Amino acid sequence: MAYGSVRGMRDILPEETPYWTRLEMGIREVARLYNYREIRPPLVEQTDLFSRGIGEATDVVTKEMYTFPDKKGRSLTLRPEATASVVRAYVEHGLHIREPFQKLYYIGPMFRYEKPQKGRSRQFHQYGVEAIGSIDPTLDVEVISFAWELMNSLGLSGLSLRLNSIGCAADHPRYREVLQDHFSRNLDSLCTDCLRRYEENPLRILDCKNATCRSQIEAAPGSADHLCKDCADHFAAVREHLDRLHLSYTVDPRLVRGLDYYTRTVFELVSADLGAQDALLGGGRYDDLVKMVGGPATPAVGFAGGMERLILVLQGKSATTMEKPRLDLFLATLGEGGRALALELAKSLRSRRISVDLDYRGRALRKQISQANRLGTRYLLVIGDDETAAGKGRLKEMDSGEECEVALTPTGISETILISGGKDGT
Ligand code: AMP
Repeated sequence: MAYGSVRGMRDILPEETPYWTRLEMGIREVARLYNYREIRPPLVEQTDLFSRGIGEATDVVTKEMYTFPDKKGRSLTLRPEATASVVRAYVEHGLHIREPFQKLYYIGPMFRYEKPQKGRSRQFHQYGVEAIGSIDPTLDVEVISFAWELMNSLGLSGLSLRLNSIGCAADHPRYREVLQDHFSRNLDSLCTDCLRRYEENPLRILDCKNATCRSQIEAAPGSADHLCKDCADHFAAVREHLDRLHLSYTVDPRLVRGLDYYTRTVFELVSADLGAQDALLGGGRYDDLVKMVGGPATPAVGFAGGMERLILVLQGKSATTMEKPRLDLFLATLGEGGRALALELAKSLRSRRISVDLDYRGRALRKQISQANRLGTRYLLVIGDDETAAGKGRLKEMDSGEECEVALTPTGISETILISGGKDGT
């Protein structure tokens, strides 16, 4: 083959797209219920937005960004995530001036130069919500509740929510010191990446998946034990509200997220069905990001979920096997006159919301009928010269095999069954 798709960037073929449509509809429906409005930022941003926003020491920024100069030498980056873009848009368009409290959501592709494997690709898709403008712990809980609601609406089970608080910007230097002290006792057993992280930002070590580092990480002091009073109270309130709503979670004192902008609440929803790449979604508070991007100090909370992983889980569940969309009517044609009439008929029926397809290749009737069967059509109508001349034909209902005579005119057929069939089918 002359060309293949770029490594880590795959085609989503028609067999799979019904899962995507269903997922997107599910996200939009939960967003409607929770009153989040859609935002669609561009795919490309100035590199600086991500390197400063996500953090210079993070894996995303140091290793994974698709960064390139434009024709004027400005450094641009394909977005590796959308929170920084949403916050930029919030500040740039003065959304905060009109209404500082904004509940937004997005759906779209992201790009990270990672090693492709099951559940991890270089172009992947995320949906996410961003609730900007309040520090209240009830907002953290609303965002978590949104995530659970979506999972429930998709019929997913076997999920668990890991929760932690990593404290505010004032807590971070103290916690970093505590971590540095812990890891300094066994520097030899850290991987080279973690040795760098040890110097630059030891919080990042907690994210390392390397087996030798893991044993050190399991023994590391948890962030929730090193919070200031405000952050400790905030975390207690988040847990209390989660309990009231019966939203289950487990506190994981060493959970940190891979991006530096997080403060206070962090969480991850994991699936038992996914193996190594088990995080379906992750999020938390980012109370300092709006200011960092040039806006007024504005607290915020949100999450991002990976769509490929959700679809893997959905496909693994036989209960959610997608029903193939059914065609309402297939027009099998014989001769040019038949095809010409079929083309006119199809146009007028489609304008009445009836899905219609026909043969365009002059194939034998037998082949057209097997194509109609493959398409799972509800009705079949054969139009040849006789039917065209007589202005009538026989409409066959495929499931029952019953036939009835219908009048044919270029603007329609005298059969009302199709109308109701069309309505159920779309
Ligand atoms: P993050 O933006 O790193 O917090 O990730 C949020 C979610 O996006 C993860 O829980 C995954 O479900 C998904 N995700 C992140 N990176 C990838 C990737 N390279 N391929 C597929 N999904 C991803």
